[in-house]
Amino acid sequence: MSLDTLIKKRIEKSGPMSVADYMALVLSHPEHGYYMRKDPLGAAGDFTTSPEISQIFGELIGLWLAEQWRAMGKPKAALVELGPGRGTLMADILRATRMISRFHESVSVHLVETSGVLKQAQWNALAGKHPDLNWHTDIDELPEKPFLLVANEFFDALPISQFVCENGEWKERMVGIEDGKLCFVYEAAKPPAALASVSAKAGTIYEYSEAAENIIHSIAGHVVAHGGSALVVDYGYAGGTRGDTLQALKAHSYHEVLITPGEADLTAHVDFDRLKAIAQKAGAAVYGPRPQGAFLGSLGAIARAVRLCENTPDNQQAEIMAGLTRLVSPEAMGELFKVLAITTPDRPAPEGF
Ligand code: SAH
Repeated sequence: MSLDTLIKKRIEKSGPMSVADYMALVLSHPEHGYYMRKDPLGAAGDFTTSPEISQIFGELIGLWLAEQWRAMGKPKAALVELGPGRGTLMADILRATRMISRFHESVSVHLVETSGVLKQAQWNALAGKHPDLNWHTDIDELPEKPFLLVANEFFDALPISQFVCENGEWKERMVGIEDGKLCFVYEAAKPPAALASVSAKAGTIYEYSEAAENIIHSIAGHVVAHGGSALVVDYGYAGGTRGDTLQALKAHSYHEVLITPGEADLTAHVDFDRLKAIAQKAGAAVYGPRPQGAFLGSLGAIARAVRLCENTPDNQQAEIMAGLTRLVSPEAMGELFKVLAITTPDRPAPEGF
């Protein structure tokens, strides 16, 4: 049975499903889920990410994490990545930090991943690069040690719900069926507490991710209880709703959200204000969101690229500079992508903020 048929059968039986339930099935259904079946990254896949574009991204993040570890007093710590894709970012982090005295010996590496296909890819990328590699399916399985955590393009893959308010009445945008095809329908609903207090504009879509809120709450709670620093990098917004940000990507082009579910990636933009508010409420210090271009720039991205070019044949130098431009330029990933740091209140602002 295809995912399309399976979703339709569920709707026929129980009525329209929330956008969050639809997203969770499309991305994570154990058999048909988008991430469960294939490696979606790279030129031959559906989308590409910063670590796949340039090694500079992972190297600078590795040095940022190691600097946080030093500022924390060099404790035994858990080096954690959420949703590590092909393992490229962690491989770059480990390579960039290899020469930092006692860093590798002080950390155990923890990868939180639900997809068997991607776990295999991560193993291929990381085997032999650190003696203590561990995989988990849930963030709550992580050890009670200070965190050095990174999540790149992880939060955008978490399910969101969508709500609209008309004449003071909230409705939830749901997935139903019309003429045998999946379609959006609206049903009267009680909005989540986070939305109940907004002065909603009629007809505007407000998004809410319970999964993202739970995970950021858990990260901030862990940092407050055990120490550590976390870096969240993703595309998203601050300063209020951007309306409907649910999007499907297939072979690097936009795709209909409700057509051939499970064949295309499905994501939503991250609401950084909400993540920040939740982490602050848990007692953590939060910095950003800062645009990715400005963040990487202040960590020395240009100097790193120039250095790489010095050790690279002339005909490959343009590729290095093109990768850097994609990461930092406002027209590419430099503005839309943002960086949020979560640390403990006892330390000064981290580098890059
Ligand atoms: N961080 C990588 C990959 C981003 S794609 C990069 O920058 O290249 C999103 C990743 O998150 C994939 O590895 C996907 O399998 C994983 N993922 C999605 N939902 C998840 C969940 N609920 N729990 C754990 N991993 C998840």
